[in-house]
Amino acid sequence: MTARRPLREIGQAELAEWLAARRQPAFRAKQIREWLFAKQALTADEMTNLPAGLRAALAEDFAICSVTQAEVVQDGEGTTKWLLELGDGETIEAVLIRAPDRLTVCISTQVGCPVRCSFCASGRHGLVRDLSAGEIVDQVVFANRAAGQRVDNIVVMGMGEPLLNLDALLPALDLICAEEGLGIGARHVTVSTSGIVPGIRRLATAGRQWNLALSLHGVTDAARARLIPPAHRYPLAEILRACREYRETTGRMVTLEYALIAGENDHADDARHLTRIARDLHAKVNLIPCNATGAAHRSSAAEQVRMFHEQLVAAGVQATVRRRKGSDIQAACGQLRARRVNHDRNTQETDE
Ligand code: SAH
Ligand code: SF4
Repeated sequence: MTARRPLREIGQAELAEWLAARRQPAFRAKQIREWLFAKQALTADEMTNLPAGLRAALAEDFAICSVTQAEVVQDGEGTTKWLLELGDGETIEAVLIRAPDRLTVCISTQVGCPVRCSFCASGRHGLVRDLSAGEIVDQVVFANRAAGQRVDNIVVMGMGEPLLNLDALLPALDLICAEEGLGIGARHVTVSTSGIVPGIRRLATAGRQWNLALSLHGVTDAARARLIPPAHRYPLAEILRACREYRETTGRMVTLEYALIAGENDHADDARHLTRIARDLHAKVNLIPCNATGAAHRSSAAEQVRMFHEQLVAAGVQATVRRRKGSDIQAACGQLRARRVNHDRNTQETDE
C-alpha cells in the first residue's frame, strides 16, 4: 500500500508550486493552510471555499489527515486511547488524558521502537518505521477533533523513541507550536527519551522551551543494562551530563521517569541513589507503577510504591506517583497495538 503524503507537512514553496502547476491563484495556499491549521480539517470536503475540482485534486495527491481511527477504548475516568491507522496500513497509538486543569494528548513518533526495553510493549518487535512530521502533527489534529476541544498539553511518550526520529520530530514540533501552526506553547510540550545522548544535545540546540523527561528506570549502568539492550543504551554519566546541559541551555527542568518493577529497581538503596541523581540534576521524579505487558516484569506492590515515594519525598525530592491511567484499557505504551499485532499473527497462523 503506498501512502499519500500528509498535506500538513508540505512546505509553503512546494504547495505554491503544486497550485501553480494546476493554474490555481496563489491565494489558495493561504486558504488551504487556514483549513489545515486554524480549522484543523480532516477531509478536503470540509474546505468549502475551495473549488470542487481543487478539493478533489488535493484529496487525490495528499492525505488531509494521515491518521484514521482503527480502534478506540475508554476508561471511566476520561482517558481515551486510540489505535490509529496510517496510510500504509501500519498502526500507532495516541492517548487523550483529561484532567481538571488540562487536556493532554500523548503521541507516537515511530511504529514500534528500536530500543526494545524489556518491560515495554512498543519495543517488543523492534522498529517497523519512523513516522513522518505530518503523521506526528496529525495525531494532535485528530485528538482535537475527536475531543471536540483543543488539547493544551502534549507529551511525546507514545510508541517509539522520539530522539531517534528527530528529523521528523523537530519540524513536527515546530508546526505544533507555531502561532500559524497549532499554536501550542512550547512549555506545554514534553519529550520523553530513554537517554539518547546525541539526541538530547540536538534537542537542546533547537533552542526551544520544550520539557525533557528522561526514562531512567535504573540508577546504575548495571541496573539499566538489565532493562535496556545495549544497541541504544548510553552510559548513565553521559546521559546525566547531557540532561544537565539541556536544563542549563533551555532553562527547563528535567523530569525523571521511573517505572517501578517488583524486585528489580524498587529497593530502598535504589531510592537513595535516585535521590542523589534527582538532587544533582534539580529534577522532579515521576514514579510509574509498571504496567504488566506479559513480559517477566510485575509492578511493585502498592505498599512498596508508597514506601519508595515517601523515601524520596522525605529526602526533599519533588516526586509524584503517576496513576495507572488506562492500565485497565491496555493503555500502557504499545499495548493496544501489541494486542492487535499478536491477534493478526495468530490469525495468520491459523489461516495458513
Ligand atoms: N521511548 C521514550 C518515550 C516513549 S515510552 C521513552 O522511553 O522515554 C514512554 C514512557 O512509558 C517511558 O517512560 C517508558 O519507560 C514507559 N513505559 C513503557 N512501558 C511501560 C510499562 N510496561 N509500564 C510502565 N511504564 C512503561
Ligand atoms: Fe522504546 Fe521507550 Fe518502549 Fe524503551 S520504553 S522500548 S525506548 S518506547
